Amino acid sequence: MRQRIAVIDLNRCKFEKSGYACINVCPPQRSGIDVFEKREDGFPLINEDLCIGCGLCVKACPFHAITIVNLPKPIEEDLIHMYGPNMFSLYRLPLVQERKVLGLIGQNGMGKSTSLKILSGQLKPNLGNYDNPPEWDEIIKHFRGTTLQNYFKNLANGKLKVILKPQYVDAIPRVVKGSVKTVLEKADQKSRLDEVIEELAIKHILDRQIDKLSGGELQKIAIAVALLKEADVYMFDEPSSYLDVSERIRVAKILRGLAEEKRKTVIVAEHDLAILDYTCDMVSIYYGEPGAFGIVSKPRSTREGINEFLDGYLVDENVRFREAPIRFSVYAPHEEDVEQEIVIEYGALYKELGEFKLEVEPGKISKGEIIGIVGPNGIGKTTFLKLISGKLKPDLGDFNLPQNLTISYKPQYLQEFVGDEEWKTVRDKIHEANKVALSDQWFKTYVYAPLDLDRIIDMPLGDLSGGELQKAAIAATLAKKADIYFFDEPSAYISAEDRFWVAKTIKNLAEVTGAPLLVVDHDIIMVDYLAKRLIVFDGVPGRKGKASKPLSMREGMNKFLGYLGITFRRDKHTFRPRINKIGSVLDREQKAKGEYYYIGV
Ligand code: ADP
Ligand code: ADP
Ligand code: MG
Repeated sequence: MRQRIAVIDLNRCKFEKSGYACINVCPPQRSGIDVFEKREDGFPLINEDLCIGCGLCVKACPFHAITIVNLPKPIEEDLIHMYGPNMFSLYRLPLVQERKVLGLIGQNGMGKSTSLKILSGQLKPNLGNYDNPPEWDEIIKHFRGTTLQNYFKNLANGKLKVILKPQYVDAIPRVVKGSVKTVLEKADQKSRLDEVIEELAIKHILDRQIDKLSGGELQKIAIAVALLKEADVYMFDEPSSYLDVSERIRVAKILRGLAEEKRKTVIVAEHDLAILDYTCDMVSIYYGEPGAFGIVSKPRSTREGINEFLDGYLVDENVRFREAPIRFSVYAPHEEDVEQEIVIEYGALYKELGEFKLEVEPGKISKGEIIGIVGPNGIGKTTFLKLISGKLKPDLGDFNLPQNLTISYKPQYLQEFVGDEEWKTVRDKIHEANKVALSDQWFKTYVYAPLDLDRIIDMPLGDLSGGELQKAAIAATLAKKADIYFFDEPSAYISAEDRFWVAKTIKNLAEVTGAPLLVVDHDIIMVDYLAKRLIVFDGVPGRKGKASKPLSMREGMNKFLGYLGITFRRDKHTFRPRINKIGSVLDREQKAKGEYYYIGV
């Protein structure tokens, strides 16, 4: 019987450097019981049955490569898959909801993608028996008495067709070549090409080569390929990545339509809670220990599920996974609270970059305020940040960055953060930003601990996943002492949970230092949680953009949501914004009143 989980992260383990510190401190090992073995390649291996769970090796490892968790009793019979000895374990699976949209929420490294690979038949679940993996009949027997029994029966005998849109769309150009059109034509099993092109608005890129597409365009092509195939179950692993809000809503509507009109079963893993909320009928929450093990909760209604997630407590499972609940403020902050000292003031600006023209309305940015920046992709948000931070000079207009103003800037593209220094560690980068940051109490409490930097602090940037690299870039940006901070898409690759930690930290920084912050993001819940004022962009993506002056939240959201054609209501329990169903009574009422952003409850 499995009592504990021991995981060694082989990317982090450096046994030559540590001289097997883990083995040397292990109490049973010292008295002659071989809890540890050495693999042929030298990596240590922990025998979970002999391990006493004391945790000394976890503390002794200078590279934080070991995780040991004692298991709650009843779950070990629910082990679905284990990648290998001392590797990640998945417990339970999402209960597929026929002809409904089921959402999956959870931290990175909790097994969402693993679950989707198993449910799509790409990965055969080994029930923990990685040495001698079971055959389908044994797997089917294992699930007897549950809805998954029939599911796997039909999957194994080919009666159930499942399509999975993979998570990492940026990897597509490495395996798929040719023009968008040829790729889509090849995928078109239902003669729905024209319909799907129309639905996803991708006509203008049909003649482009796959390797010339932006992240958002690749995402839409990957979604299109999935939609063109004939299947019973459609799965989408993180469909919002790289998409702006209107594209996210477009995709959300398509996924709803798959279930409602086409009577298909849909499963979606997603970190944008507003979009997840809008898309799904039910959600399952993943809890456990990232990278070590994940447990899948039973499905609950989307509203309940997201609220439990924000509360940090799963009622049915009686599991608390966060100390404090996440709550939103109901009243739009007042613009004219107190007269605050102005940090930056800019006049009307104009800038041309190639084909693209940007106009900026004049604005003032005051001490301690957080300004959210919203708008579609390719509309000039990054260009605006570069103008205001002095990285680009305007062609027309008055703007002189005050002398001696120091700026801390997290770029959108993390490659700019890494540069050609892939070998540098997270510690090096934080150290460069601020020599004493790592010993600073504020940094420890508000950045280091919540972002779980311990796990990555000594890893080279080149070895980090997208989410880990984003956290590193955010941490280095926060570490730097500056008069003003800029964050360009901090939520990209980051889990819903971590988005709130990032948002909390950013808020706290503004309060503690009094420095203003400008945050560009597509996660509307995060922007709502963070911002005191909004700069809203409109125009024609790729051609011309216009940045509004900083507006109050109410005015800004009304303008932005007006462009999107959606309205918000507030959840009564958590006060989080929820997108109204388009055409619903509330939606029609609010549109008639021009109240797209509903402040009261
Ligand atoms: P999520 O989608 O929730 O972010 P994943 O299912 O991608 O999580 O990964 C869960 C864990 O399993 C991670 O720690 C990951 O490193 C590990 N993992 C994924 N694939 C493999 C594999 N082929 N071999 C070993 N470990 C893996
Ligand atoms: P956003 O941040 O809103 O997605 P950007 O400010 O990055 O938009 O880009 C706006 C437009 O300007 C895009 O069409 C982009 O291709 C174009 N652009 C950005 N930088 C340059 C450049 N250096 N030369 C030519 N065009 C550029
Ligand atoms: Mg994943």
